[in-house]
Amino acid sequence: MTSLSKKVDTIEESQTIAITSLAKKLRAEGKKVISLSAGEPDFPTPENVKQAAIRAINDNFTKYTQNEGMPELREAVAEKFCRDNSMNVTASNILVSNGGKHSIFNALQAICNPGDEVIIPAPYWVSFPEMVKLVDATPVILHTKEEHGFSFTADDLKPLLTSKTKALIINSPSNPTGSVLSEETLRGIANLAAQRDFYVISDEIYEKIIFDGNRHFSIGSIPEVQDRVITASGVSKAYSMTGWRIGFMAANEEIVRRASKIQSQLTSNASSISQAAALEAIKGSQSDVEKMRLSFQHRRDLMMNRLLKIDGITLAKPGGAFYFFPSVKGLIGKSHDGRVLENSSDVASYFLMEAQVALVPGTAFGSDGYIRISYAYSERELTEAVDRMAAAVSRLG
Ligand code: GLU
Repeated sequence: MTSLSKKVDTIEESQTIAITSLAKKLRAEGKKVISLSAGEPDFPTPENVKQAAIRAINDNFTKYTQNEGMPELREAVAEKFCRDNSMNVTASNILVSNGGKHSIFNALQAICNPGDEVIIPAPYWVSFPEMVKLVDATPVILHTKEEHGFSFTADDLKPLLTSKTKALIINSPSNPTGSVLSEETLRGIANLAAQRDFYVISDEIYEKIIFDGNRHFSIGSIPEVQDRVITASGVSKAYSMTGWRIGFMAANEEIVRRASKIQSQLTSNASSISQAAALEAIKGSQSDVEKMRLSFQHRRDLMMNRLLKIDGITLAKPGGAFYFFPSVKGLIGKSHDGRVLENSSDVASYFLMEAQVALVPGTAFGSDGYIRISYAYSERELTEAVDRMAAAVSRLG
């Protein structure tokens, strides 16, 4: 048989998706697995949003929309970016796509040429480097440190800049660490981007899930760099709408035109029904967003205290999103039944096999020695999971 794509051989399967699927399979086989692996809010989609979708179906709003997204939704997203993010955009700066992932991939396709370099701070979300490879560009990893709260500054970026640097991808609040980049840091990055001429793709999908009175700051709101920042966000996390697949980007009109051209050949518009639902999510009552945010903050505090009691696990308090990224370096080198835990993949497998708790190893996010725990789950599941993990750790020798 003739050969298949070599490019596909160079990329990894998404570990967040793979481990979540494995946990579902084990549960279907009757195993009592608690999965803390998916970055997916456990709340139902708000009632007003569901009703808007039902209305859209009953009104036969079930055909193609404009490729870029229905005009009312682009308008509403632009208003949201102006109001909530202090950005200066209109509907012509907005492209609605099939989820935040699609928006980021569209952005990369719109700006990258073969051989370009794209800087990605690690720990990174699993899909960033693979998407960069898929557009024939090269991911350049900036390793951030736990003792710096997984944050970084413009000075840390400087040694990685070359004549091939096309873009930097940032994600604040971060998946997987929950760290939040300060306004000062973002202003420093913006200055550097303007001086050294690179784009910034800012993934702000967790913008509404931010704690302790902190305010989300959008780098795209800085006038000097507004044309070189592509802001990606969506309704999945803030409105618990992961399955509806609606993401959007805000960018300069030329980038939106290019990304829209690509989208017109690949997927066309995002689902009309989901767009109607997203419009209600953005324009309707925001009270559920705040309720969910408070609930995530409460779960973070509950879990923090319990996790810190487990010997060998240390962690920093996340400022946003709904993930812990604890160090499990204290467990590496320990053993059970003669099997030594050599890295974070072994630790994650140990928790899956011995505690029946599914987690994602740090290796998937470019940082061995850590695991990612999503706390977008019920308090009952979370406390049961930590109890099981603590018991499993006590069996290590
Ligand atoms: N972003 C979520 C996560 O990291 C959903 C899965 C995915 O798209 O990777 O778990």
